[in-house]
Amino acid sequence: MFARQTQFTLWGKFIASITAIVILIVFGIFVGIFIRNKDLIQYEIEARARAHFHNILLARRWNAQYGGVFVEKKQGIKSNPYLANPDIHTIDGKVYTKKNPALMTREMSVLADKEGLYSFHITSLKPLNPDNAPDKFETEALKSFESGELEKITEETINGRTYFRYIAPLYTENPCLPCHSKQGYTGAKGEVRGGISVKFDISDAHAALETDNKNIIVLCMFTLVLLLGLLYGFIFNIMNKLNAAMQRISEMAVTDALTGLKNRRDFFEHIEAETARAQRHRSHLSCIMMDVDHFKKVNDTYGHPMGDKVLKKVARILTEHIRISDYAARFGGEEFVILLPETDIEGARVTAEKIRSALKTFQFITETGESFYITSSFGCSSMENGENAEALISMADESLYRAKARGRDRVVCMHDN
Ligand code: GH3
Ligand code: MG
Ligand code: MG
Repeated sequence: MFARQTQFTLWGKFIASITAIVILIVFGIFVGIFIRNKDLIQYEIEARARAHFHNILLARRWNAQYGGVFVEKKQGIKSNPYLANPDIHTIDGKVYTKKNPALMTREMSVLADKEGLYSFHITSLKPLNPDNAPDKFETEALKSFESGELEKITEETINGRTYFRYIAPLYTENPCLPCHSKQGYTGAKGEVRGGISVKFDISDAHAALETDNKNIIVLCMFTLVLLLGLLYGFIFNIMNKLNAAMQRISEMAVTDALTGLKNRRDFFEHIEAETARAQRHRSHLSCIMMDVDHFKKVNDTYGHPMGDKVLKKVARILTEHIRISDYAARFGGEEFVILLPETDIEGARVTAEKIRSALKTFQFITETGESFYITSSFGCSSMENGENAEALISMADESLYRAKARGRDRVVCMHDN
């Protein structure tokens, strides 16, 4: 019982450990995928922002290298109010106005915004055009650029949509100086003149990430259930096989291999329990010791295998003549023992007589067709004054001895003359 409980605890611990390991591994893998996914999307978003920034920078550089470009001042086109002499008049009466990098950037930004692609903003801590004044995020970023930071990012939620914001510095380059030196810029290496901030909607990317996360969770649960299901199936299968094997082993440990009756070892355990029970309940308990007469002769005459067959048959006849509540064991060799709970000495005598007569009248037939009979002797004892197991066995043994001495083929009970 204790061994069985220990076994269950061990199995319980084993299953709990395996479950914990599987859960840790599966969760570890999926958390890894989850983080990697998030990182990849973030990386893509940042790469997109940097690409926007560099495209704008490239367009500005192109413009700056010519010191600004002129466009024909058609209907609706205004001159840049922040330039000293933005317009030129040709001899054929046309007017061209200068689009410097700052104005070009602003106009491109209005265009990009209108098309809903993304928006960007050229900004500076010392803007000439008040429209280029930085907001809070841009101000903090611009200040950080002056102390060497290279870019800043943030996310903003406006009307339920998430926007990604990116800003990187604009450094003073030589083509900028002709116009911007009056603002105090010197063109020193790394001199920050402002920045361009880019903003675009990443709600779709977030929604995709969320869907991905949901899929990952479902997949994780599915994998977990599948793995644990397979594992539990496997473990329970092994457990069942092991239990069946252990059951067989413990059966074998208490069973006599030849007759299938309980063996001597089991008998000693059983009689201890039975005598204790009889003492507790002050009930009867009888014991019959039985020995086949001149069995050696059977072996000698018909061979050992025939002797084995006889012993098997004796065991079957014994079993057939006792009650379900009685107990029979092979005590050793051609000697058997029967325990009869709730049975007094006279009841034991009756049972022993029945068996004696059944054995005596059974005709054994050898392979060569010879037939023979056997007889057996019986000694009976019974608990009368709370005797212990040892006393019960010894009284039955002594009675059997007397049965043998008196000529065999008989039943002798304790107190018989
Ligand atoms: P008694 O009437 O005094 O009991 O004489 P016996 O010949 O029955 O007793 P003895 O103790 O001299 O011999 C018992 C024999 O039982 C000897 C032994 O070889 C045989 N025997 C013991 N176990 C087995 C067994 O498992 N199979 C077979 N075939 N014979 C066995
Ligand atoms: Mg014998
Ligand atoms: Mg014997």
